[in-house]
Formats: sequence, C-alpha cells, structure tokens
Amino acid sequence: MKSFKICVLGDFSVGKTSLVRRFVDQAFSERYLTTVGVKIDTKVVTLPEGTDAKLILWDIAGADEMDALRTNYVRGASGIVLVCDLTRAETLTTAKKLQREVASRFGAVPLCLLANKLDLKREREVDDMNLKQLTDNGWNVFTTSAKTGQNVDQALIRLARELVGLPADE
Ligand code: GDP
Ligand code: MG
Repeated sequence: MKSFKICVLGDFSVGKTSLVRRFVDQAFSERYLTTVGVKIDTKVVTLPEGTDAKLILWDIAGADEMDALRTNYVRGASGIVLVCDLTRAETLTTAKKLQREVASRFGAVPLCLLANKLDLKREREVDDMNLKQLTDNGWNVFTTSAKTGQNVDQALIRLARELVGLPADE
C-alpha cells in the first residue's frame, strides 16, 4: 500500500487538530487543546481494488506563516490540506497566502481547502461566492464541520483519490 505525507496548514484555531481527530477517530471535543510541535496520525483510506492509500497526516502547531520550521515540515509532502474557519474571513486570506508560499517553495502539490465550522451558521463570514472564486481557479474546496463530521471524510477521500491517480468521482 502506498503512503502519503499530508500536511495540514492554516491559521490558529481554525480546526486543524479537530478535523484530523474527526477523520482518524470519529470524535470531536469543544475543548481547545493547543498542538505543540507536530502531531502525526495515520489512516488507511479504502479505495477501489489495489489502490488503498495510507494517509500520514502532519498536524502542525500554531502560526499562520511559512517560517523555516514549517518549510521543513512541508518538505516531502504529497498533499496539503489547507484549513480556514468560515466564521473568520481573515483565515481564508491566510489559507490563500499559505498556498502561494507552498507553491513558490515546492511547486504544484495536490491540495484541498477545508472551509471549516460549517455548523456555526449564524456566525458565518465567508460566503459561497468567496469559495466559488477559488473553485473557479481550480481549487478543491469543501465546506466542513469537525463537530458534526459533515464532509470531512469526503474531502480527505477526494484528496486520496487524486494522490493515487483515480478520477475525482466514484
Ligand atoms: P487548530 O488550532 O487549527 O488545531 O484548531 P482546533 O482543532 O484546536 O480547534 C479550535 C477550536 O475550534 C476548538 O475549541 C474546537 O472545539 C473548535 N472547532 C474546531 N472545529 C470546529 C467545527 O467544525 N465546529 C465548531 N463549532 N467548532 C469547531
Ligand atoms: Mg491544533
């Protein structure tokens, strides 16, 4: 089975750790646990015969910029999961900035954007038009909730399919 290093990047408190936890453990906590350094979790994604993929998810603590440390974490990644928080528009700006920085250092890496906290409907600041601009530019964008689990598996499975060279849809 092929393994793929996936780096999860995004602004502070957007739900990076929660999304990985939802995907790997089917669990969620309201408690805020600061990620220290880097946490690595793996999950096998079942795909059509012979193409199962092991995703090695690197959940990187804190900051919103590609400092030297973060650049080293991202080196060798097969894919990038960018996360923003639908209730804070500035986190989408950060995600776009991170994408540009990854692209300038590492070239074209398969990437998806998880626009998270979809369950917080009344606090939502990022609308579908903002996201459509990105899909029009070829980004894979999913609105997700780590809390309810909505779209989390779909997003990661979509990325895994791209990594093993399967078409986007079943
Ligand atoms: P990180 O700093 O990006 O790793 O963010 P965390 O995963 O630690 O989440 C930050 C806070 O947002 C925590 O209090 C989580 O419980 C909360 N959170 C994360 N995802 C969601 C979500 O989809 N919906 C809601 N309502 N809260 C979320
Ligand atoms: Mg975290």
